[in-house]
Amino acid sequence: MTARRNRSPVLQCTTVTPLPTGEALAALLAMQGGPDDAADHLADMAFVLCELGEHTDETEHAAHLWTAEAQPPPGLWFLWTGNNGGLRVHHRFATLTMCPARLHDLREDSRRWCGLFEDHPGRHSFDVSDPLRELLHERIRREARRRAVAEDSDPDDEGRETP
Ligand SMILES: [Zn+2]
Ligand SMILES: [Zn+2]
Repeated sequence: MTARRNRSPVLQCTTVTPLPTGEALAALLAMQGGPDDAADHLADMAFVLCELGEHTDETEHAAHLWTAEAQPPPGLWFLWTGNNGGLRVHHRFATLTMCPARLHDLREDSRRWCGLFEDHPGRHSFDVSDPLRELLHERIRREARRRAVAEDSDPDDEGRETP
C-alpha cells in the first residue's frame, strides 16, 4: 500500500452536454479577440465537457470555449445546469477573466496555470484530476511494473506477496 498524500486531487465533474452551435457562434463572433474562423473552431465542439472539480447541483457546469489574447486574458465560457435526468435546464455564455492561480513545480521547474475562470467554484484545475486520464496512467504504471517483474524474476514468483 502506498501512502496517500493529504492533498489528494479531486475528480473532474465530466458532465457532458451538446453545445447550441448557433448561439456559441454568435457569442464567439461578439467576443473581442475571438477566433479568426469561429465556425471552424466550433466544428469539434458538438459536445462540451464540464471542466470543474466535482461539485453540487447548485453550481453551474462550465466548459471553456476560447481565450482571447489580452491582459488579463478573457475567456468565453459555456455555463449550464441540468436536472436529475441529465437534461439541460438552463444555460448561458459568459466572458470571464481567467483564474490567476498557478502552480510552480520546483522539482520540474515548470509552471502550470489554472485553466478555469477567476473566482471559479471548487479547486484549481491543477488539483482536479481527469478520471479517464488517471485510469489510463494507472494501466501504464501496472503494465510497466508487470514487465519489470517479468524481467527481474522467475515467472513462478509472480503473484506472491512480499511482506
Ligand atoms: Zn460540472
Ligand atoms: Zn483556479
